[in-house]
Amino acid sequence: MSGGFGAHRLHPPSLAQAVSAKQPVFWSNPNWRTLSEAATDAALGLADVRDAEARWQRFGGLLEILFPELRASAGLIESQLYPVDAFRQALTDDGSSATGRWFVKADHELPVAGSIKARGGIYEVLVHAERLALGSGWIQAEDDPCVLATPRLRECFARHRVAVGSTGNLGLSIGIAAAALGFRATVHMSSDAKAWKKIRLRARGVEVVEHEGDFGAAVAAGREQTAHDAHAYFVDDENSRELFLGYSVAALRLRKQLADLRIEIDAGRPLCVYLPCGVGGAPGGITFGLRHLLGDHVHCFFAEPLASPCMLLRLAQTDDADVSVRDFGLDNRTAADGLAVARASQFVAPLMRPLVSGVFTVADDQLFEDLYRLERSEGLRIEPSAAAALRGPMRLRQALRDADCTPGRIRATDIEPATHVLWTTGGTFVPEEEYREFHERGRMLFHSVA
Ligand SMILES: *Cc1c(COP(=O)(O)O)cnc(C)c1O
Repeated sequence: MSGGFGAHRLHPPSLAQAVSAKQPVFWSNPNWRTLSEAATDAALGLADVRDAEARWQRFGGLLEILFPELRASAGLIESQLYPVDAFRQALTDDGSSATGRWFVKADHELPVAGSIKARGGIYEVLVHAERLALGSGWIQAEDDPCVLATPRLRECFARHRVAVGSTGNLGLSIGIAAAALGFRATVHMSSDAKAWKKIRLRARGVEVVEHEGDFGAAVAAGREQTAHDAHAYFVDDENSRELFLGYSVAALRLRKQLADLRIEIDAGRPLCVYLPCGVGGAPGGITFGLRHLLGDHVHCFFAEPLASPCMLLRLAQTDDADVSVRDFGLDNRTAADGLAVARASQFVAPLMRPLVSGVFTVADDQLFEDLYRLERSEGLRIEPSAAAALRGPMRLRQALRDADCTPGRIRATDIEPATHVLWTTGGTFVPEEEYREFHERGRMLFHSVA
């Protein structure tokens, strides 16, 4: 299209204007395919998801030693699935009705890291530690992973560094896990990272390097510094297979939770999952796992802030080229610090092309209002990024009323009996004072609209 957006062609073309004008949009993915249509090259598949789950299981004992808070769960890092009927009703007070069964997948309560990053970040650090120890001859393949927590191994790890670039939560997850094993840890933080996250990391002996730029700049700086250090390992959030697989295991866990509730997923009873999206690793890994496990009757939708719709722009392009939200005049500034990403992961975006049903964008004010509604109705405390998914079912319903919008080929009648899962991705560790501010902003907005 001519005029302002360079070489980027979007489908539909009208999307460019709406995105640039910061209007909330709901985009239905024209490249969605059934699993059998999607040419699944064997590079990555369900076997890799199961393999990652097996590895998590093997690490259970080690995790219990490293993190006493995991003793009650025998080293399992998992979140609850809460029914949220009160929230559903709170959203539909205005007379409109919302049907189906609604749940919150409460990753905001995940132990150790307090966010969805516990799934990917801790996994990648453990995998790296074991590989390093094996490769260096410090352990043998048949050794129990618990040896990784012995003083002898700690001494070895202390000569090595683990580094990462982050808007905050991935840094917390990687920094905490790496420090627990005895690694030297460096977290490159973007300018939007919260002060309390830096304080929390420094208290654990993690080196925090602050950068003026955004997420991409922090990652680039970390990658660059680590490249010159033979004893350093960089967790690359723009390109990591291990993060992706660590996240993907959530699909197996969610399927089990739904089965325990006797919730069936099939053509007449689809599952709709709404996931806040930053660089794409967490929602991408989970979507990958869910589509491969549950097939074509699970519909995953990503939620992004108005100022940072990097995955939307990437997937809506007709030619799948790299793109920055800045190419569309956006500044990547949002109160959803966990989602403040200008470019989608190069690794994840192409994988999502046939798998994700759609992407929608959410105004910052809406995040606070919904954060407040969720606390009021369900007593759950989340951070603004985690609120991005909460409008999902309403936004989908609205979109389905538009004549030719059929994300993942679902129709309006299909979602009446659907199960909706709203993924809340972070919040437990937010300090009280900080949370009060979120609450207040949400309360004011709530009363100004109600
Ligand atoms: C990181 C993060 C996400 C999104 O994960 P990506 O892998 O960056 O897409 C969502 N919510 C919160 C709270 C996060 O910290």
